[in-house]
This record gives sequence, structure tokens and C-alpha cells, in this order.
Amino acid sequence: IYILGIESSCDDTAASVIHNGNILSNVIANQKIHEAYGGVVPELASRAHQQNIVPVVHQALEKANIKKEELHAIAFTRGPGLMGSLLVGTSFAKSLAYGLNIPLIDVNHMQGHILAHFINEEGYSKPPFPFLAMTISGGHTQIVRVDNYFDMTVIGETIDDAVGEAFDKSGKILGLGYPAGPEIDKRAKLGNPKAFKFTKPKVDGLNFSFSGLKTAILYFIQKETKANPNFIEENINDICASIQYTIIGVLIDKLKKASKETGINHIAIGGGVSANSGIRQALKDGEKKFGWTTYIPKFEFTTDNAAMIAIVGYLKFLDKDFAQKNIAASARLKF
Ligand code: ATP
Ligand code: FE
Repeated sequence: IYILGIESSCDDTAASVIHNGNILSNVIANQKIHEAYGGVVPELASRAHQQNIVPVVHQALEKANIKKEELHAIAFTRGPGLMGSLLVGTSFAKSLAYGLNIPLIDVNHMQGHILAHFINEEGYSKPPFPFLAMTISGGHTQIVRVDNYFDMTVIGETIDDAVGEAFDKSGKILGLGYPAGPEIDKRAKLGNPKAFKFTKPKVDGLNFSFSGLKTAILYFIQKETKANPNFIEENINDICASIQYTIIGVLIDKLKKASKETGINHIAIGGGVSANSGIRQALKDGEKKFGWTTYIPKFEFTTDNAAMIAIVGYLKFLDKDFAQKNIAASARLKF
């Protein structure tokens, strides 16, 4: 079964062809234009998607070495995401499925981040049900109880900023480029995580809050740079390491709590922030420390990609769970 997956929820245009769970191609066009603005500009994103979508899909088919007539279904990201961006992928997927007269399959982007673990990949095992998935990305921070592919329950989530935003906004305060997550990760490796102490936000239950941390970092930097204008430059690695350490501490605390409350020891992560080397290590450490079995996605399946959309498409195809041809994009899609 050949499925084409199309992802266009934010600023990356991506397409992937999957054959029975094996990735044949996984193409991404990143939009550099947003860097100049320090964040994604929705209007520019949607315009860039329009330019990228045809060549990206073409390349995905070419790399997979198949013709579009050989496809069995088209899977696309229905939401959540930026409406203008989603519309491009949705319209394109609908027209292509209609033109080829094959099924159309709608995919929830956040389920994609979780179900990316079911891509066949040497050296990576698939989590058994039930497992806990922590989705940490640019727009979400959730702990999800996954009882089956499409039986997912959010048991905790952020009440304000997402963890990716915490990275990006902290980076902005430090004058780092956008997105700042990868840059903070790189610098954190060279710094002392205990150089500066930031108070961890206190939120009941399994929910998260990251907006207070960003403010604490802002005040801290303002105070220190008043005393020493070169404070950031001189301490950038230590600052990054300390911020990352604090954020990872929050994430691991909540995972521990979730695991205890549910009695589930199989823990997976997904989403852009799961690319972070610190969180990957902390999760691995959890195997010895807390008796977890952990599932860490291959690097290329962490940030937005279409392979994760294609795998969900494949799983839904097996269930014959197809979309109506008049389905609409949904910016705030839940599952
Ligand atoms: P969502 O999936 O919630 O709709 P999104 O699709 O915009 O949001 P992703 O592409 O999944 O988000 O993730 C992007 C986020 O991941 C950005 O905030 C980025 O800073 C962060 N990120 C990427 N790599 C790293 C890293 N190595 N360390 C920390 N954060 C990272
Ligand atoms: Fe995402």
C-alpha cells in the first residue's frame, strides 16, 4: 500500500511516501523567510506553501520512485495549525485525491507526532499499548495516554505557553535566532546546568505552565545586564544550560507523576522539542532511575515532517477510515 502524506500546518511544507509502514521518501521545504521576523508570519507561511507544495510533492514521488497513479490514498494534515497554511495542504490533497480517484485521509497533526513511533525503522521499537506519550512542540505540551492508535486521551497539558515557546522566547531574550530551541540545545552542551537557578513553575496535577519561567528569565537577564552589560555574552552557554535544565526538570517531574498515577511505564516523546539532546538523555536515564521503557523518535521525525502524516494515513487506511471529499481544515482540531 502506497500512501502520500502531506504536511503544511505551520511553516514547513512536507511530503512523504510510505509503503506498508516503510518510508520511501521524506521531503521538507523549510521556510527561511520567518527568521527575519523572529517568528512565523502566517500570511507569508501560506504564500510559501503555495509555492512549495507542487515541487515538494513531485520530489517525494520521484525519490520514492513511484508514479502518482500508483498511490492508494492521500493523507493530509487537517489541523491543528495555522488556518492559511492548513488550507494549502488540504486543498491540494483534496484535488489530488479527487483527480486520481483514490481515498482521502485526514490526519490530526498531534496524533502524527505520536504515531511517528509506528514507522518501520531499524533499531527503533514500537511502544506497546497502553503507553504514555509526551508531545512537546512549538504549539503544544501534552501528556497523552495512548490505549490504541486512535484511542488517545490527553491527561495533562499546558495552561499557557508550550515548551517550544519557552525555548524560543527565552532565546529571543538572549538575542538568539528563531527558532531558538536547537541553538539553546547546542550551547547547553557547553555550559553548566547548575550555574543559574530558575524556580520551576508550580502547577497542580499533570498540567504545565511555562509563561512564568519566561518572565523569570527576562527579569534575571535585565537585572544582570544592568550590572554587567556583557553578561549574556560572557555566560551564554551557562544560561542556556540552566534554562534547558530547568525545563527538562519540569517535563520529567510530570512524566514521573503521570507514570505513577497511571501505572504505565512505557513512555514515548514526540514533537519538535523531542529533538533536544537533554530531554533525550533525561528520558534514557529514566529507564534506570524509574524503571521506564522509553521510545525516542529518530531525529528527522521529531520536528514537523510528512512521514508522520503518511504513517497515520497508512494506519487509517487499514481501518478504511476515509475522509469525505468536502472535509475542511480545522485550526483547533482536537482528538
Ligand atoms: P505543533 O506541533 O504544536 O503544532 P509546531 O509544529 O510548530 O507545533 P514542531 O515543529 O513540532 O512545532 O516543533 C518546533 C519547536 O521545536 C520549536 O519551538 C523549536 O524551537 C523546538 N525545537 C526544535 N529542536 C529543538 C531542540 N534541539 N531543543 C529544543 N527545542 C527544539
Ligand atoms: Fe508539529
